[in-house]
Amino acid sequence: MGFLKWAKDELGFNKSSEYQRRYLNETNIRTAIYMSFIVMILELWMLIRYVVKRPGLTFVEYFDGETNYLIFFTAALVLIIFSLRYSGRIKSSLATRIVASAALALDVVMIIRFIYRSAGEIAGGTLIWSIKYHLVLFALSLMLLLYELLLASKDMKSDLYGQAMNVLFALICLGFGVETSLYDLSKSRQILCFITMMIFVVFMLIWRPYVSFVILGVAFLYFYKLWQPILMALDIANEGRVLEGDTINYFMLWIVMVMVSISIYQQRVHEAKKDEGLLEANEKLERVAVEDDLTGINNMFYFNQETEKMLKDPEVDISRKVFLFLNVENFKTYNDQFGYQAGNEYLTALALLICDVFPDDVVARQSDDHFVVFTDIDKIEEKTELVRGRVKGNESEVYLELKVGAYLPKSRDTDPRVAIDCARYACSLIKNKFGRNYMEYNEDVDSEFHKRQYIVNHIDRAVQNGYIKVYYQPVVWSDSKQLCGCEALARWDDPTYGFLSPGVFIPVLEEYRQIHKLDACIFEQVCKDMREGLDAGRKIVPVSLNFSRLDFELMDAVGLLEELVSKYDIPKDFVHVEITESALMENMGVLEEAMTKIREDGFAIWLDDFGAGYSSFNVLKDYSFDVLKIDMTFLKGFEKNEKSPIILNAIIRLAESIGMMSLTEGVETEEAAEFLEKAGCGRLQGYLYGKPMPIEELNGKINDGTYVVSERLI
Ligand code: C2E
Ligand code: CA
Ligand code: CA
Repeated sequence: MGFLKWAKDELGFNKSSEYQRRYLNETNIRTAIYMSFIVMILELWMLIRYVVKRPGLTFVEYFDGETNYLIFFTAALVLIIFSLRYSGRIKSSLATRIVASAALALDVVMIIRFIYRSAGEIAGGTLIWSIKYHLVLFALSLMLLLYELLLASKDMKSDLYGQAMNVLFALICLGFGVETSLYDLSKSRQILCFITMMIFVVFMLIWRPYVSFVILGVAFLYFYKLWQPILMALDIANEGRVLEGDTINYFMLWIVMVMVSISIYQQRVHEAKKDEGLLEANEKLERVAVEDDLTGINNMFYFNQETEKMLKDPEVDISRKVFLFLNVENFKTYNDQFGYQAGNEYLTALALLICDVFPDDVVARQSDDHFVVFTDIDKIEEKTELVRGRVKGNESEVYLELKVGAYLPKSRDTDPRVAIDCARYACSLIKNKFGRNYMEYNEDVDSEFHKRQYIVNHIDRAVQNGYIKVYYQPVVWSDSKQLCGCEALARWDDPTYGFLSPGVFIPVLEEYRQIHKLDACIFEQVCKDMREGLDAGRKIVPVSLNFSRLDFELMDAVGLLEELVSKYDIPKDFVHVEITESALMENMGVLEEAMTKIREDGFAIWLDDFGAGYSSFNVLKDYSFDVLKIDMTFLKGFEKNEKSPIILNAIIRLAESIGMMSLTEGVETEEAAEFLEKAGCGRLQGYLYGKPMPIEELNGKINDGTYVVSERLI
């Protein structure tokens, strides 16, 4: 068995991979180029030599005499053109067509000429045999023409076609070798031409060894049969030594050739395998680069690359295409409840499900519980409902919901990254909106979206160029109505967009994790304004600064504050830190540490927006604050809603009982102010006492007596 397998392998009976076949085929085509080039030069030389040696003949005589050279020359020309075209080295199809047609025409002329010359001498069957090389050349040229007309433009490279061309050429080579050597023998010359042609065909065109074996076998035996009578004739003169000696040498040559052909073939297969191995390794590496670590589906790198290609592809109808952004809502709770591992498993299963629902589309995981898909618009809601059904149908008690944002690309230049950003934005618009699970990005959304993009892209410039300004809103004592402080509120005065409100840019900057840039800028301006006030000998009031929860993640917020107050030499009790209740609920660990530090440093901490969200009394239990800022929602409809005063009263009393002072925001009417004073709320802030204003305006109002700065500031 072992021997059989070995022999099978050596002779090339084994099946090779697609890659190896292509590799061998391409090597053959490459060699065919060199080979046919040499043949052409050689034959050209022969053609010229023929004319030079026989001066004074007519054109037709030359033409008839050179038929064999012409066939060989033309065949080589056809093969070289085919090979160059096939391997992509010639781009022009015109050259190929001209050569193919000219070769065909020449061949037809030669055939007609032959028939005319031998008219009456040769019968039907013999005629065909006599023009066999013409017929092969005919087939060769015709195939070149067909290749050009039918296949080349479609870039259809079939191994078979290349091989068939080589076979046809090989037939002409072999025939030429046999005929020429027989002629040479008749003139007492050597059989070198036969041997040269054998080497050409077997070594240069590298067949599988068993094919070489057969070609060589048949050709050698055929030639030997024709050669034998000549050898025998020689024997008569040489006492029988010629036939035996030459026969042994001749067959040794055959065997050596077979061995060499095996060796060359094996060498090439070996190279092909090595190449294939490298290619596979490369593919694996490439795969790693485009794979999402967690779920094993594609990552964004792949997604962007692939969708960009598809958008550019004229065959893809982009008016039917859509980018989807899928977000699993409430997934954080799932993670909290079941742990990281279970969360990961859930995401992996979900990823595979999405791939199942969109089998022929580009699917990837963007991050966390966010997935992206590039697909056809048809049945889109049906498909997303399918995914949604599975998300909602999870067996746990955690309520999960799937929200999908969609973006329809407008042009082939659409950047997939921007498209996904748009889809993501559309998706964010239906966040927490019950009953709305699919949102398409449209024109309204578009202008809003551009504004957001603008904000994110221009925050650095806005900070540098001073477009970010601090406005101060007065805070007064409820009893004396004298000024006891201000809240610093950011304004963005943009040369392009005009006045932007914090309600617009703060959430965007938070979402894109850029908010610390704004806050750092505000903190510094506030300190600078205070320093200027102190230097000018003005009375200054404490300022409260709004801290975003992300400030503590994105920068050393406490360190910055310390640095600024020492740089501008500001008394620490003139700076208050406002932290919102929701920040504390989301970010316990990081904030707890920071708050301790702030207190130790001697800054007061105010709890902002109390009661705005899901009010958590736990926050009051777990942290201590100096001032509780009661959110303005409590004052909304204060006059009409009889519960409002009761609740406000209770909150104020609660604050007092746990040692906190209180401030109510959004005071717009005298009645509210009066009520709050009576209820014992120490500080008031609201339009009744002033809207946020620039420092110059505030200073002016202090100077003209609109505001009286209180002696008691804390
Ligand atoms: P906030 O901290 O609750 O600030 C109070 C907001 O209520 C301000 O809006 C203020 O102009 C407004 N306001 C004050 N009195 C009244 C009133 O009587 N009636 C009504 N209807 N509104 C009143 P603004 O300046 O638009 O700020 C919105 C939010 O943006 C702020 O809410 C704060 O959360 C955030 N923000 C503003 N500046 C900054 C900043 O520098 N950094 C950070 N992180 N957030 C800021
Ligand atoms: Ca505030
Ligand atoms: Ca507030």
